[in-house]
Amino acid sequence: MEQPNSYGDDLGPLKIIHVHQPAVHLRATLVVDNVARGPSIGGMRMAQDVSTEECFRLARAMTLKNAAADLPHGGGKMVIYTDPKAPDSEKELQLRCLVQALRNEQDYVFAPDMGTNETCMAWIKDEVDRVVGLPRALGGIPLDEIGATAWGLVQAIRVAADATAITISESRIVIQGFGAVGKHTARFLCEQGATLVAVSDSSGAIYNPAGLVLETLLQLKQQGGSVTDYADAKSITEDELIAITCDIWVPAARPDILTASNADRLDCKIFAQGANIPATMAAEQNLHDRGILVLPDFIANAGGVICAAMEYQGANESAVFPTISDKIKRNTATVIEQSRQQNILPRAAAVALASERVEAAMKIRRWKLF
Ligand code: NAD
Repeated sequence: MEQPNSYGDDLGPLKIIHVHQPAVHLRATLVVDNVARGPSIGGMRMAQDVSTEECFRLARAMTLKNAAADLPHGGGKMVIYTDPKAPDSEKELQLRCLVQALRNEQDYVFAPDMGTNETCMAWIKDEVDRVVGLPRALGGIPLDEIGATAWGLVQAIRVAADATAITISESRIVIQGFGAVGKHTARFLCEQGATLVAVSDSSGAIYNPAGLVLETLLQLKQQGGSVTDYADAKSITEDELIAITCDIWVPAARPDILTASNADRLDCKIFAQGANIPATMAAEQNLHDRGILVLPDFIANAGGVICAAMEYQGANESAVFPTISDKIKRNTATVIEQSRQQNILPRAAAVALASERVEAAMKIRRWKLF
């Protein structure tokens, strides 16, 4: 399959909808990429600096992620061009207005992403039924609270560790971003004996080669602070964070943090993509050529959407972690094996696995000439 350009390819996007309501300062873009396997699921990102093309790339990642996880859903993504730190009252008004504008858009199921949370999904539930990521009090399975994505990411890391002869209990880890994905990934890995040596959030990055105390970091975040408030560590730049020698480096913040210009500096054995599209293709090629195992985002970070799809189907919370483990371990093992057998990037193996499933659905529905 060809790589999608900014206007897409045979898989999509199916539609791009721009919503504009000046009265409440609302501007938003919905990209529905492909719905051959079912209505699209993908999070609503509140951020001021995301282009329509980036929104499309994120929607495509969801098409592939949902297909790889064998969910009855296509991929979509929404961007709301609002400051995520805006007051709740402003966000609520904008979200209610946005959802009303899209109330008949059956091809998209609303879901949380960076800048939106379970409370936002509860407001949306008042307006329409097509929403996942609800608080437990409204029958949801709070995926960020339980760490569903991080749980899946750690299962992928365990498979990758076996394939690269790394022992997790002796491993040194670096995590960029200390939100829902980053902090739970740190928790699950530290519970297995790993040492967290460096971490960052939007305020900055810190490093202590002897290890950081996770409980202290979690407390600082819970009190509304930053990891940079941690006392016993050296303050470092985002650039220095990339160059720290470790076993497992986890991006859990923004897209495209690794590019052709800085990929050379990454010094780890496994690059486990918690964030969506954290590296460009050129960066992934660089890492592959240097023997660093890349766990592609849409394989490794599918735990959240698996949880969301299970919530949508009315599943019990206790079934979530075993299902995530099963799907992500199997997919990670297949991707590593295919990548090694065919000497291709892990991402190429992952795209082949997922796009075959999407194309099979398109063929059955006669949406594509084969
Ligand atoms: P979040 O909003 O809970 O946390 C994001 C974290 O990144 C925060 O700690 C923030 O301070 C930090 N951050 C922001 N800009 C940064 C920067 N420039 N440098 C370092 N840190 C920075 O978000 P999240 O839910 O943890 O999502 C993180 C990433 O994982 C995103 O790319 C998201 O798309 C992806 N993801 C999340 C889920 C999920 O279930 N939450 C699922 C799949 C993928």
